[in-house]
Amino acid sequence: MQNEKPKWSEITRRQFLTISSASVLTISLGNANVYESRGAAFPLPQPWYAAMRRCGQINFNERDPVAMDVNGWADYWASLKVDAVLINGGGIVAFYPTQVPYHHRSEFLGSRDLFGEMAVALENRNLHVVARMDCNYAYEEALKAHPEWFERNRDGSPRRHNESTWLFKTCMFSGYFTEQMPAIYREINGRYPVAAFFTNGWPSTGALSVCYCDNCRRVYQEEVGGIPPEDTDAADPLYRKYYAVFMDRVLQVWRLWDSVAKEKRTDSVYVGNLGGGIRTVKNVKTLGEVAGWFNADHQGRAGDTAIWDCAQQGRVAQSVMKGRTITNVTGAYSNSRPTWRHTAKAAAETTMWIAQITASGMVPWFHWLGGSPEDTRWREVGRSFFNWLASNEAHFRNRQSIADVAVLYPQSTIAFYKSGREPGSWRGAERAQTSDYLQGLYYALLEGRFIFNFVHQEDLAPESLKRYRALLIPNAAYLSDNQCQQIRDYAASGRSVFATFETSRYNEWGDKRNDLALADVFGASIAGEAIGPLGNSYMRIEQQHPIISGFDGTNLLPGPENRLPVRARESSPLTLSVVPYYPAFPPEMVFPRTPRTDEPAAIFKQKGASRIAYFAGDIDRTFWRSGNTDLGQLIQNAVRWVSGDVRPSVSVAGEGVVEVFAWQTEPGYALHILNYTNPNMTRGFLRRFYAIGPQKIEFETAPGKKTNNVRALRAGRNLTFKQSDRTVRFEIPSIVDYEVIALT
Ligand SMILES: [Zn+2]
Repeated sequence: MQNEKPKWSEITRRQFLTISSASVLTISLGNANVYESRGAAFPLPQPWYAAMRRCGQINFNERDPVAMDVNGWADYWASLKVDAVLINGGGIVAFYPTQVPYHHRSEFLGSRDLFGEMAVALENRNLHVVARMDCNYAYEEALKAHPEWFERNRDGSPRRHNESTWLFKTCMFSGYFTEQMPAIYREINGRYPVAAFFTNGWPSTGALSVCYCDNCRRVYQEEVGGIPPEDTDAADPLYRKYYAVFMDRVLQVWRLWDSVAKEKRTDSVYVGNLGGGIRTVKNVKTLGEVAGWFNADHQGRAGDTAIWDCAQQGRVAQSVMKGRTITNVTGAYSNSRPTWRHTAKAAAETTMWIAQITASGMVPWFHWLGGSPEDTRWREVGRSFFNWLASNEAHFRNRQSIADVAVLYPQSTIAFYKSGREPGSWRGAERAQTSDYLQGLYYALLEGRFIFNFVHQEDLAPESLKRYRALLIPNAAYLSDNQCQQIRDYAASGRSVFATFETSRYNEWGDKRNDLALADVFGASIAGEAIGPLGNSYMRIEQQHPIISGFDGTNLLPGPENRLPVRARESSPLTLSVVPYYPAFPPEMVFPRTPRTDEPAAIFKQKGASRIAYFAGDIDRTFWRSGNTDLGQLIQNAVRWVSGDVRPSVSVAGEGVVEVFAWQTEPGYALHILNYTNPNMTRGFLRRFYAIGPQKIEFETAPGKKTNNVRALRAGRNLTFKQSDRTVRFEIPSIVDYEVIALT
């Protein structure tokens, strides 16, 4: 039961002040806060949310006070064995009898205090209450009283919500964020047992907004030097300046709200709303530094999004939080396009989404909208998964990932990249998706069953990279001088690098360099501007190499759609050469005009233990867009070669498309395998699961560690295994949706 857990919240503010007044408070970057007192360090309990394993959210609507069954809902969440529940406090709509002026009370509130009733019901079940707020919109009465609180269009008109047109968008640079919202937080904090505050929809990781209110115009004039462009455009000096000013304001507001949250309880916290998977514009590294708790509002997928979108979110968040608290929301409703807020999505889809959250080391947050649901099918989906989690909880307390390969997460390229060609020269649908390079590498890594982590491009110092034998760089075109130097140092230390296309061609804002900054590392210099997008070009196999194994029966491999003409800087044997584009139509015209060149399509070099594989074309992106199996094989071969001859720490052999995570846990190790083998893998929703057959595992454990038990937690049975020296070998007979193998 929950109430047997020691709670940090039982340390009162008075006790905290007694401790902290005689001590120096230091916040470590690891899991624990450590207080140093007269030279002696002793750990105090972590804040409650650091130990949180599961949470839930019921999102009230304005009408909910009419009929909401508070105790029924509290019972439901307690039955999921959650640690915390998010309930709506206020912002747009107050669900309690607020006294804060212009804080709109629910029109249906009557004499009820829905927030208060629910908070008490949750507290009675020993669940933490998180006040879910919305800072983004307010009613017309606030607009009339405080016109300066609101965003404006160029013509000065306020910005209405596109569906709920009686609501107006508030401005982050205004007093609404620094005065009104804190006043609301203080009122809620003063009246209710609240353990944290969360804001819906803010700050997000999406593009920056541009507002024309008087406040913002002043900011543009005084701090930016002019009105910034409305679209993301890192080539514009005003955009660059605005990006810095915007991020500063986000951090200022975040810290303010966090300090207000902590006024009553020192272990309270403000949680912003982040997420967006691999497609982020706002700097997640910076946001991760200010966040005590990182919430990714990545609730589901739509359209042609691949199922692993959620696991990618986990990897992005882990790259900046490094083991600190990360939650990811799962929408139990159908958040596809179109969206249905009040009917459940398929159980298989919901289950696989939550499974990715736990596999990638995040905490699941289960979410439903509306207090009086007519569809209740989602309830048991969440309950059965959460109860399974709870009964195996120790194995989800991770100490660290044991991946030994790193993928550079190229955030500034994803946010800002414009290729070297003139704007507009991409043809319509062929316009670059800046995350396609990473997506292609990612899919190849899944097919090759590699175990890897993301590292953020701003986190390439030796202490972050030293545990990885190889760094994989999917067209990180935008890299700072310092980041390039860190990659150079990494290679010089005997480690290996895989990179593609325009990696290091530009600085972090997109200023073009004369040559690749990493030309010396790659052994390749630019010999012309990027060419493409063009199909029907090839790579000719000039001689054998481990990276070109498995292609018996062909002299040609499919070429990338875009390539950078390069020349080798050192005399090295030509392994793959470029066969340039020739017409694909009509068939009479389809023959190579230049069948053989000495232009390298890739350069593979080895210096000591360091292996470098540089592909001059966008083989990763082309693989993702075409699905071409040769390109997938080529990437996997290259990753295997740069990873070195030492056996990987974990290998999983068998049929099926799976994603694998491996963690060192509090009780031992946990191997997570997600079964994506499904006709709905790249277009939702999953309807059912298709079990995969035996998987043979070799798992390297720490020297001297004896494994006593290997248990399949999802199947609920022990597996036979053999240990020889450090290697534990076993077979998983079958995986339906997800399996977690605990080695203890
Ligand atoms: Zn404004």
